Amino acid sequence: MLLCFSYLSVNSPARLNPSTPRSVSSRLLRLSIFLLLSLPDSKGKAIWTAHLNITFQVGNRIISELGESGLFGNHSPLERVSGAVVLPEGWNQNACNPLTNFSRPDQADSWLALIERGGCTFTHKINVAAEKGANGVIIYNYPGTGNKVFPMSHQGTENIVAVMIGNLKGMELLQLIQKGVYVTVIIEVGRMHMPWLSHYVMSLFTLLAATIAYLFLYCAWRPQVPNSSTRRQRQTKADVKKAIGQLQLRVLKEGDKELHPNEDNCVVCLDTYRPHDVIRILSCKHFFHKTCIDPWLLAHRTCPMCKCDVLKP
Ligand SMILES: [Zn+2]
Ligand SMILES: [Zn+2]
Repeated sequence: MLLCFSYLSVNSPARLNPSTPRSVSSRLLRLSIFLLLSLPDSKGKAIWTAHLNITFQVGNRIISELGESGLFGNHSPLERVSGAVVLPEGWNQNACNPLTNFSRPDQADSWLALIERGGCTFTHKINVAAEKGANGVIIYNYPGTGNKVFPMSHQGTENIVAVMIGNLKGMELLQLIQKGVYVTVIIEVGRMHMPWLSHYVMSLFTLLAATIAYLFLYCAWRPQVPNSSTRRQRQTKADVKKAIGQLQLRVLKEGDKELHPNEDNCVVCLDTYRPHDVIRILSCKHFFHKTCIDPWLLAHRTCPMCKCDVLKP
């Protein structure tokens, strides 16, 4: 497509007019190059959503929620993990202190740490939870970020599942657990998204639209933009018209020598001259019906008898 673009811009018909498709095409060409350069390389990472199947008991009722509410971290294994959700002990929920304890319920075989974002790196807090024996880590976003999530970067913690959830969901879980509710979560691998692929598709569409727009302009403009030879032709035609207008006209009347039977007929229409006919007299002194010679001169520029050029004095 890029090749096609360069071809079109090089072969633009409007080389003489700066405000023509040529400038449009060069702008589009630059745009397409920019779009192509801005494409990420094909190593761009896929994003995986995480389904959190949350279960807890309120009174005698067991409540279960399933939602695609998180994203797997970039360095997390894509595995299903489950367990009781456990908070870091103490008032601080960010688990940045390496001595942070997790009060794991006795009935839980496996547990997942619920940690607040911030205070230290994702790697750091994931490692703190992993060292205490967590089977997975759920990190919730900063307060005020609503449901916003992104794929975390946490190099060096490739052996433990780590997902990010939105602040609202995180606070909901936090408050339940702080009230003493036993919450279990099953983290399941959701769907894959390829942001670079959609970027690529978008760029491709933009490029396609630009090409179509250019072709449209190219076709729409072409008949209106005369090239140098048609402009020269137009100028000549205008000059001929002006020269014809300056040639003498006469209205024939009875007794004129042009009406004598021995005189020539009009060589254009081969008819004889009659009184009241309007004749055009050329600089070579040949004359013809005005209605015959004017279109002839516009087409041929020369006298049909002696070939003298109306543009040459
Ligand atoms: Zn005639
Ligand atoms: Zn002549």
